[in-house]
Amino acid sequence: MSAYRAPTSVFAAADRWLPCDNCGLGIQTPVAGGTTQCTRCQAPFVAYARPNTAMPKSAATDEMARRARLRTQDGRPLLPPPGIEQLVQGGLQPHRMQEARMIWSATRKSLVTNASDVAAAERLLFLTIIMRNTMLDNPTDEPSVRALIEGALEVFFLPRHKQSMLGYLARGAAKVGDMDSAEAWIAQCDPFSEDLLADSAYRITRSFIDTGKGNFANVLQVLGGNEADVPIDDSMDPLAAVLRANAWEKTNNLQAAQMVLTQYMARHGNASTVQSITSSMPAQWQVCAQSAGSAQQQVRQVVAQRAASSGGGSMIGWIFLIAGFAPVLIIGMLYLTTPKFPIETTFFVLIFPIVFGAVGITFIRSAARKKEIAQNGLRGRGRIVGISPTGTRINGVPLMKIDVEIHVDNHPPRMASTKRLGYQQIAPGSEVQIIWSPKYPNEIVFE
Ligand SMILES: [Zn+2]
Repeated sequence: MSAYRAPTSVFAAADRWLPCDNCGLGIQTPVAGGTTQCTRCQAPFVAYARPNTAMPKSAATDEMARRARLRTQDGRPLLPPPGIEQLVQGGLQPHRMQEARMIWSATRKSLVTNASDVAAAERLLFLTIIMRNTMLDNPTDEPSVRALIEGALEVFFLPRHKQSMLGYLARGAAKVGDMDSAEAWIAQCDPFSEDLLADSAYRITRSFIDTGKGNFANVLQVLGGNEADVPIDDSMDPLAAVLRANAWEKTNNLQAAQMVLTQYMARHGNASTVQSITSSMPAQWQVCAQSAGSAQQQVRQVVAQRAASSGGGSMIGWIFLIAGFAPVLIIGMLYLTTPKFPIETTFFVLIFPIVFGAVGITFIRSAARKKEIAQNGLRGRGRIVGISPTGTRINGVPLMKIDVEIHVDNHPPRMASTKRLGYQQIAPGSEVQIIWSPKYPNEIVFE
């Protein structure tokens, strides 16, 4: 296999990149195929001729009726297929990449000879997506990321799988400014799919390219003005929210932009997802440059309110405080209104403000701290390591202490905890988005 021409961009549609089966290095491959050796690990590399990956196009139908059919497929998160749940638990960790690649390569090889194995195809799709995410989170050469996607694309036969890969390639090209290649990749897609994953991949990619080209009216056309207009697959919801908000902002409707963002981010954990998406966009696109900041502030208020009430809230504290002083007040009133009231025998009532007052003050101060952390703290990731009852109950609901191992950028990992009422779907080992403040280093709030 001779040297191939220099690529115009890493995602150039005229070029072909496939991964080394052994180490994953992207290898530029002639369209006709051939045999060579991986330059990194020396493993043999064999490629067949490049297949036609373009999709047959569905006929345009009544758009509103199609959206209604797509909507019935919405709300299903992409779950790991059987056999690899263990591998990908809590996200694919870099040290398990080698194992993932072995399964990926073997699955891909089996699809070359048996393309219609749907279970294998689902496995390859899922692995490709999470391996790509792990590669992007860690220092990787871009051709290897492209090769992973293109390697999967070439062996897929289901339109929704292919379209998902074509979307990654087109968006990759748009991101590096290679708009011709971006258009060439998306031209292979079916714009009128009846499958939600395929349709969302098309819409997200179309609007991504249009964002780069400055066609913001078309972004709002393709994605709709708000999340109720057009159903989008769960995996692409955050990207849709950002592109939609940006299109509003760039067409001089800042209020709509903030509304779209706040609505999406106020749900648990989404604020940091939006933050990482906007920061991964090409800087010159200025995505949500004006709306993101104020939407983040609004969402902080929502999170602060939720955090304060999750631990019982300051209201509970005031009730305790007032309840504690009430007996003293009553005794005081009796003393003032009853002649010869035996005040010395009633000093025991002082125990109420001391005990209840202390509990009340603890709650009020805890709620205030949580608010402050939520409003001014730093965002990070956490993993639940333990849940234990504190012994306190409010209306029969136990107040739980949740211990979390947290990772905040530019700070060493550490343990911190939060208190909240009830068990509410928090399992040890699960990943959570947190806010932490160096001012109260042992405490966190959940996003
Ligand atoms: Zn290799």
